[in-house]
Amino acid sequence: MPEWPEMENYRRLLSPRVSGQKITRVVVNRPKTINEPEDTFQGELLGHRILFVERRGKQLLFHLDDGNRLVLHLMLGGWLAYGTEGPKADSHFQVILGFEDGDNLYFGGLRLGYLHRLSAKTVNEELKNLGPDPFDPRLTPEAFRTRLSARRGKLKPAMTDQRLVSGIGNCYADEICFDAQIHPETPIPSLEAEAADRLYHSMRKVLEEAVEGGGYMDHPLTADDTITGGFDDQCRVYDRKGEPCVRCGTPIEKGETAGRKMFFCPHCQRMG
Ligand SMILES: [Zn+2]
Repeated sequence: MPEWPEMENYRRLLSPRVSGQKITRVVVNRPKTINEPEDTFQGELLGHRILFVERRGKQLLFHLDDGNRLVLHLMLGGWLAYGTEGPKADSHFQVILGFEDGDNLYFGGLRLGYLHRLSAKTVNEELKNLGPDPFDPRLTPEAFRTRLSARRGKLKPAMTDQRLVSGIGNCYADEICFDAQIHPETPIPSLEAEAADRLYHSMRKVLEEAVEGGGYMDHPLTADDTITGGFDDQCRVYDRKGEPCVRCGTPIEKGETAGRKMFFCPHCQRMG
């Protein structure tokens, strides 16, 4: 599932392309993807402009000039494409938004994901339990430590809980734990303050590297996009079972914690 770096990469690439653009075409091939009758959705969007694109956790919010927002969650398998022509036939996409300059934004793979048109108030209500962004300036090392220490249980399920910090999922939780040299199953009460600080710095370092590298999505956004997906082969532990640890050479192990896959180095990632 796309996480913070993938969605932030989309936001950065889409912002200059769609901000200020008027929506002149709305195609809905899968009504379940949207949250209202198809003609209402089309009628309410046509002629309106996207003002800017915001990211909250793993969601993208397209702010419209009538005060409403289009909220996108890609969930598992969702992806985006942008251009005058899509990389596949239009019928392949669940929703397509066309703009006055002839470009289109294609929403693909949205069988579990959604694109909802909501008022600002409803969006705030729906996202009110979302934790702070990893780069929120108010999320200082101290604030992170305090949020973490309010938890029981193991580290990985907490890191992927959107209420703790928003935007981190299965892949980057493993990458962050690896970078911090902390075992993902470490019980939170046994984490030293110094280890929590290491985790905080690794969180920002790993996410920054991943977004700079373009995240791991395997479809380019535009025909000439050389950024998206560049980080795919740079993960150090995720999906690398049996491969040597880049730090110590020990084979990476795969395990499961709280029903989620986890990948870690059994030698250089310690409990606490
Ligand atoms: Zn190692």
